[in-house]
Amino acid sequence: KRRMERLTKRRAYPLFLAEKGIELIEGILPGQSAFVYKGTEREKIVVLGTGWGAVSFLKGIDTSLYDVTVISPRNYFLFTPMLAGASVGTVEYRSITEPVREINRKVNYLEATATEIDPKTKVVTCESVVCDGNSCDIEDFTVEYDRLVVTVGAQTNTFGIPGVREYCCFLKQVEDARRIRTAIVNCFERANLPSLTDEQRENDLTIAVIGAGPTGIEFAAELRDFVEEDGPKYYPNLLKHVRIKVIEAASSVLAPFDKALQEEAIRVMNRSVEISDSDVRSLLPERFQLVELKLDQSVKEVTDKSIMLNSGEEIPYGLAVWAAGNGPLPITLQLVEALGEEQAEEQDVARGRVAIDPWMRAAGGNGDILAFGDCTCITRGQLPATAQVAAQQGEYLANMLNKQYDLKPSKVDGVVPPPMKTGETKSSLSDTVANLATLSNGEYAKPFQFLDLGILAYTGGGSALAQVTPAPDAPPLKGTGKIGNTVWRSVYLSKQVSWRNRLLVLNDWTKRQLFGRDITRV
Ligand code: FAD
Repeated sequence: KRRMERLTKRRAYPLFLAEKGIELIEGILPGQSAFVYKGTEREKIVVLGTGWGAVSFLKGIDTSLYDVTVISPRNYFLFTPMLAGASVGTVEYRSITEPVREINRKVNYLEATATEIDPKTKVVTCESVVCDGNSCDIEDFTVEYDRLVVTVGAQTNTFGIPGVREYCCFLKQVEDARRIRTAIVNCFERANLPSLTDEQRENDLTIAVIGAGPTGIEFAAELRDFVEEDGPKYYPNLLKHVRIKVIEAASSVLAPFDKALQEEAIRVMNRSVEISDSDVRSLLPERFQLVELKLDQSVKEVTDKSIMLNSGEEIPYGLAVWAAGNGPLPITLQLVEALGEEQAEEQDVARGRVAIDPWMRAAGGNGDILAFGDCTCITRGQLPATAQVAAQQGEYLANMLNKQYDLKPSKVDGVVPPPMKTGETKSSLSDTVANLATLSNGEYAKPFQFLDLGILAYTGGGSALAQVTPAPDAPPLKGTGKIGNTVWRSVYLSKQVSWRNRLLVLNDWTKRQLFGRDITRV
């Protein structure tokens, strides 16, 4: 006991806990550096997800205060902004993923998918794929929580268009990028067979990208780089047949960007192919445009061979990549349903997502269910579905829980006040919601405020768009071409979650520069 006390004196936590009247008792948990304290039956937090929001929450949460369990079918974090690059081999899958156990070693991780949340009994039902040798079984189990943090993200929205789910590739997960990479190589190898007509070759080498938001444009840009940089080496005779068709229902591309940057993206996409090898260049038409933007065109149906547009046009394709929007996951819909009336009232705006207040409390969740990221909607003051928002929300929530705000919503004069620190007294509270949001006297938690740092998009050929916000109300700074690309590279390199990822990405970029992309299907 004396040794324990001596040890604890060297640590900050015991002092912090002592201030709160918590005493040390004997024993160190086996295999852990945490101590056991009297009066610290740590509150059990269950986190669903290992994406942008969850990881930023896990980096910030104080595990001496909370017993944290993470549940997700993915035992790693995925750096989504580089997924388009991974789908053509610019970077490797492992360079943009990080094991969740590396992110916070003091949390317990369970590899499973949450299938049902019961807010009344505070239990999550999960499904795990358990394999023994070659045979796999599905195992169900339940986990109890005191507080649930839901950050499960979203799934690709097909808008119920026939054939999309069956025939299109999506771009959300590592498996999607892997599937696309294989499919691109399949298209080229199939088109290279001697028995085909030129028309069949052109159809096989038509790659359709549906959706010209950041994901669709970045994928088209990466694909174009692959064709321009590695095509002459591997498939010089096939290049003249390659077409990248980007189909978009709106009249422009990259909706979140400023008009001038959207036009710059269109200009870059529409430029003629630049191939330095004169022998290969001579095999191509004089002005060869690889990317065709089809704006104001919506998809009616996808079949195994063609994409039918509402305009009546039929586009035969070899590979179709669907990047046209987000929709709620089944677990999100189930939670919204289980939370009842308070969620139902917000669904006109939330549209299947979990409606939350600016303190991340799910409507109807009694402060026990906290949610953020792509699976949610702050109904008063909507935010974009981006990694930036999810990461800031995760950090905010961890901070609020570390400061031990009481998250139970109570009503004062018909108004729900912000969370208040445990043990503090309720002082007089202004009646208007507008004032609630600005209270900052230290007693009430400030609502979440998104700090918009700007947006970036790679447009191919070593150019990118950067729309950076230097200060909250300042006009954005815009960069294009090589300058935009330098900003894009520096920001995404610095945003990697570990030094290991940073080095691996740098290594991939250098490797690609020296030897090109790897197209082997091993
Ligand atoms: P996610 O990061 O999607 O994480 C969800 C997690 O929940 C995953 O770990 C998943 O496995 C897990 N999960 C799913 N279902 C369950 C379940 N039933 N039970 C338990 N766990 C579950 N944003 C930007 O700001 N900048 C960009 O440049 C950018 N580029 C992008 C490029 C691509 C290709 C894509 C797909 C997205 C991009 N985004 C970008 C958007 C960004 O990735 C998302 O906004 C962000 O991932 C949202 O974070 P999240 O934590 O809400 O969800």
